[in-house]
Amino acid sequence: MSKVQRIGVFTSGGDAPGMNAAVRAVVRACIYYKKTPFGIYRGYDGMISGEIKELNSRSVSNIIQRGGTILKSARSAEFRTPEGRKKAYESLKKHGIDAFVAIGGDGTFRGAQIFSQEYDIPVVGLPGTIDNDLNGTDFTIGYDTAVNTAASAIDKVRDTASSHNRLFFIEVMGRHSGQIAVRSSIAAGAEATMIPEEPMSIDDLIRILERGADHKKSSSLVVVAEGGETGRSINIAKEVQERFSHYDTKVTILGHLLRGGSPTVADRVLASQLGVSAVEYLIDGKTGGMLGVVNNQIKFTPFDQATQNVHNLDPEMMRIAAILSV
Ligand code: ATP
Repeated sequence: MSKVQRIGVFTSGGDAPGMNAAVRAVVRACIYYKKTPFGIYRGYDGMISGEIKELNSRSVSNIIQRGGTILKSARSAEFRTPEGRKKAYESLKKHGIDAFVAIGGDGTFRGAQIFSQEYDIPVVGLPGTIDNDLNGTDFTIGYDTAVNTAASAIDKVRDTASSHNRLFFIEVMGRHSGQIAVRSSIAAGAEATMIPEEPMSIDDLIRILERGADHKKSSSLVVVAEGGETGRSINIAKEVQERFSHYDTKVTILGHLLRGGSPTVADRVLASQLGVSAVEYLIDGKTGGMLGVVNNQIKFTPFDQATQNVHNLDPEMMRIAAILSV
């Protein structure tokens, strides 16, 4: 019989739509396999302070369609210290928790890796971040919803851009990843995409915009990935405006809008699949890695590989975006 009987689940780092669906799946799978699920509130901070509650099937009713996370999320400075992690371990032991599921991004997994090396407690991670910046999964939970939100916002900006002969810079989140930018740019038919993985010079951008103006485009949309520097589109827009005055230039920063909203079907299903698998992997004695879906198959990737040298932007997507912007 599996040693694992009492399983904790928490959400950590930046929240992402679909985290609730993942929590629900973990809880329901625990009940299915006759394990006791526990919700750990406010990420590692709540683990340290003992904000832990036993959950049941009804605790996760009516949440699959809701954005945010019912367990709340946090960034915990204290968990980065050995003393903080000792307190976290003591809280888990106090509740008899013998394994847990960590839903978050790369930082969450780095923390989980260190913790599971220091203390003998099995942990499986689920990729919960809108940025799609982890190895070992085609998509992270929340990415599809964020891209859909970005695309529909860009559609709306296009209506006003084309009514006034305007050039719009639309900045999207993604930290150091251009994944949200590229996919939403293709989906909404933007003229250019600026991402950290393949930096574009202002000269190149102006050439694209001039070509659009020559082709009698009444407006132009440029999607800018924040690249870890919120507001960077403002400086880009200023520089372009000084050298290219064909259009009136405006900036829209979508920011945290992309974190909210009801998760798409793709995110709900991904979260459900991964939540069930996480419980099954823990029961089977697996630990120390993240679960993802690659080519429709569940894949286990050790934490250090999931978080290191992430270069998962598909160059084919950039090629398609460039062809379609002529
Ligand atoms: P997102 O990708 O959405 O930002 P994330 O999981 O990467 O999510 P972080 O704030 O980087 O978000 O990490 C979440 C938490 O994990 C941190 O607040 C911290 O408590 C813990 N953590 C991160 N790195 C470490 C580390 N090296 N050692 C211990 N704990 C860590």
